[in-house]
Amino acid sequence: MKKDKLYHTDIAVVGDIVSFDMNDDGTGVIYEIAERRNYLSRKAPRIKGAGYRGERLEQIIAANIDHFVIVTSVLEPPFNNKVLDRFIVIGESAHLNISVIINKCDLDANDFIDEWVNIYNEIGYDVIKSSVVTGQGMKKIKEFITGGKNLFWGQSGVGKSSILNTIFPLLTLETGAISSFTVKGMHRTVTAVMLNPEKNIFIIDTPGIREIDPFGIKKEDLSHYFIEFSEFSVNCRFNTCTHHHEPYCAVIAAVENNKIRVERYESYLRMLDTIEEDMIF
Ligand code: GDP
Ligand code: ZN
Repeated sequence: MKKDKLYHTDIAVVGDIVSFDMNDDGTGVIYEIAERRNYLSRKAPRIKGAGYRGERLEQIIAANIDHFVIVTSVLEPPFNNKVLDRFIVIGESAHLNISVIINKCDLDANDFIDEWVNIYNEIGYDVIKSSVVTGQGMKKIKEFITGGKNLFWGQSGVGKSSILNTIFPLLTLETGAISSFTVKGMHRTVTAVMLNPEKNIFIIDTPGIREIDPFGIKKEDLSHYFIEFSEFSVNCRFNTCTHHHEPYCAVIAAVENNKIRVERYESYLRMLDTIEEDMIF
């Protein structure tokens, strides 16, 4: 068995395809989990009293995901490209198919968000502008998520639950609820759930998880997850280039020549700074 398998903290997760036996009393026993096409994981949260190794466990949140739908908002909370880029890196590092929803467009009186939509479209990400208040984007989102397993993710308060409740009137996800997630010092268990609000539509919701501390991303790999950097980074002088300070860096040159957006590069540098050297086993 491979070493990394040994350290996973979860046996079966939402999205897994399993073989199981049913007992007469309605309980069941899983005896096999099919190989995962992809999965989203994070470093297991620090558990009070747990040793150092405990901090470094990989916790798998969900598996076999067709779309990773990142929900953001124009305002309340204000659009934060660095937070979005962090989610994108997490999705890219897990080989997920990523799209972005920018919600609360009713609050964007000056359409300032359109420039951000351009930035992400240029890179190749689908961006859907939406509003629960005006109904903008709701049909598009529904079409988009039909036929696969969709993992919805977003910062607290962006309107993820409101969007799902609007598209699927039978759903009654809790909205505007922040307090129950912030009890200090409590260890929260992972609570990803699979919703099937209509035939052929599967949504993985993660009401208990607001933070992902990515697992196992190395400094020298981070730029792979800023996918528009790759056509330039192949021309860096050093193949271990982190595009930070190294001479003859083709990524820095591309930023200077407006071939890579400076907003994305700054986001990259910020993230590079936060990666610990020892994140890998
Ligand atoms: P979640 O934490 O991402 O699930 O966010 P919620 O769905 O709980 O929404 C947080 C707050 O934003 C609630 O008070 C919603 O009524 C409000 N909200 C959600 N969507 C919109 C929107 O499109 N426009 C505006 N103006 N408010 C919204
Ligand atoms: Zn470089």
